[in-house]
Amino acid sequence: MPEFPVLLLGNPELNRVSKAVDRSELGEVVELVGNLRDTLNAFRARHGVGLAIAAPQIGVFKRVVYIHVTAPIVLINPVVEPLGDEKLETWENCLSFPDLFVKVKRHKACVLTYRDLNWREIQVSLTGGMSILVQHECDHLNGVLSVSRAVDGRSFCLASERRFIRQSALNPWSSTRLAESTGG
Ligand SMILES: [Zn+2]
Repeated sequence: MPEFPVLLLGNPELNRVSKAVDRSELGEVVELVGNLRDTLNAFRARHGVGLAIAAPQIGVFKRVVYIHVTAPIVLINPVVEPLGDEKLETWENCLSFPDLFVKVKRHKACVLTYRDLNWREIQVSLTGGMSILVQHECDHLNGVLSVSRAVDGRSFCLASERRFIRQSALNPWSSTRLAESTGG
């Protein structure tokens, strides 16, 4: 399956709100997931980073997310609810702005509810890196990018200057290069 062009920061399409998937659309979702997988894999091969991609990033305005941290996970109609009040400060980048890091605050823990490709409803509690990642991806489905959640005016850093970012804030994941980015 082909790699699709990823919409980049500045493209107003990234601010569109995506539509919920109906069960009758599952066949199309299978094809969409293949395209998301191929696009994410091609991006990782080129940039060495990238953990997830949301359908609107390839111009499909459906509530579908493809995550591949240790194994592929497909989220259909995901909903994230914060668990507790604690927030983490983290530097995120994104397939839609791979050359930029943005400092944001995310809920440390959340409850994620979604459907899988068999239309089973699944609910999981997440903390740390995975919690941050699904909040980032669900934002995409609502047309929200990390840049609009920047903590303050000093919350932007070019990827080339990332050495100035405190490592622990850059990376709630392990220290492998692939895992440096929380973005998708
Ligand atoms: Zn993103």
